[in-house]
Amino acid sequence: MLPNSAAPSLINASTGTLISHLECPNCGKIYSTDVVRTVCENEACLSSLLARYDLTGGLHKDILIGRVANMWRYKEVLPIVNEENIVTLGEGFTPILRLKNLQHLAGKIEVLWKDESGNPTGSFKARGIGAAVSKAKELGINTIVTPTAGNAGGALAAYAARAGMQAVVYMPKLTPQVFKDECRLYGAELIEVEGSISDCGKLANEQAVINSWFQVSTLKEPYRLEGKKTMGYEIAEQLNWQLPDVILYPTGGGTGLIGLWKAFDEMEQLGWIGSHRPRMVAVQSTSCDGIVQAFHSGQVTATFVDGGFTIANGLRVPKPYADKLILKVLRDSNGTAVSVPDVLMSAALKEIARHEGMLIAPEGAALWQAFKQLKANNWIKNNEQVVLLNTGSGYKYLENIEV
Ligand SMILES: *Cc1c(COP(=O)(O)O)cnc(C)c1O
Repeated sequence: MLPNSAAPSLINASTGTLISHLECPNCGKIYSTDVVRTVCENEACLSSLLARYDLTGGLHKDILIGRVANMWRYKEVLPIVNEENIVTLGEGFTPILRLKNLQHLAGKIEVLWKDESGNPTGSFKARGIGAAVSKAKELGINTIVTPTAGNAGGALAAYAARAGMQAVVYMPKLTPQVFKDECRLYGAELIEVEGSISDCGKLANEQAVINSWFQVSTLKEPYRLEGKKTMGYEIAEQLNWQLPDVILYPTGGGTGLIGLWKAFDEMEQLGWIGSHRPRMVAVQSTSCDGIVQAFHSGQVTATFVDGGFTIANGLRVPKPYADKLILKVLRDSNGTAVSVPDVLMSAALKEIARHEGMLIAPEGAALWQAFKQLKANNWIKNNEQVVLLNTGSGYKYLENIEV
């Protein structure tokens, strides 16, 4: 007779994570990953903390063969220690789609969409929140709170439901109804706020301190970045370990941009890729383009810019917490920054829907317009390969689009 002990030992299986510590990229201070952390406690820093792994032993990329087609295929470079703490809805391993009927507008440039719209809750926020909620579970947290422009709130609500945790979400009133309804349906407490995500952030922070809730505000919590970086691993794996020449990214808080860059460094350390790096492009809404302004005026931090509503709700981030890290990636990569007005985002969204069969988020649509500009300026050149990172589904934004 077979012993019945296989199940428990499976449940207690280790992920094999190579996680080592958290590090402040500003002052170098090191923190343990065994306790709850937000940002660097050095008052002169208060920087986002970065998860560091022990990659010196290397890891052969053949380990990926036959693994699950979601972001946990990269579990050695994710922060969870016990498999049982992984809270997943199948996020990640999204397709890369070649431009089909609009390729003539790209000429000799190869345009690829990394399409995140099929993720649980309809955006790439599922990756970051999936990692953050999993680590929060591992650290014994019960209540988790976030300010959001929309998609992070829905993702947090869903993953908290899955994990058996309580979620509290602060969202601007001027957000399409579906973002609010999904939070409530997933059992989160939703607080609607006059103003932008910055106003939501202040309230969320006050209440988190009073109630001892754990905050997963963008880049004030170290593990959302880890989930989002898996896009970088996927782009490399799906392109046969050859990174593209340019990546366009719709930048709100900047997690994806910083995460991609971090993934590239880790993969080089692992020996999975060489030293070639894409030029990274931050794309913003003209109504909220603090990073674009700071980049072009040579500043190392961004100033607060809030022009109010934009159809790309996820891009209404008046001052990203990790502005320094975003600007550093743009400069280190020889990248650039471009802003796009709502009317052109809307037109781009319709063009992609009609000719490519993809109903992408306005944030993603902004990239198509930015691409055309960069091609016209010859910043992107013939024979280059470009990845446009569509961060979410357009279905949630229909209220913002005149059909
Ligand atoms: C949140 C969000 C963004 C911005 O992501 P950051 O990581 O905050 O830069 C872009 N697009 C969509 C659809 C989003 O939900």
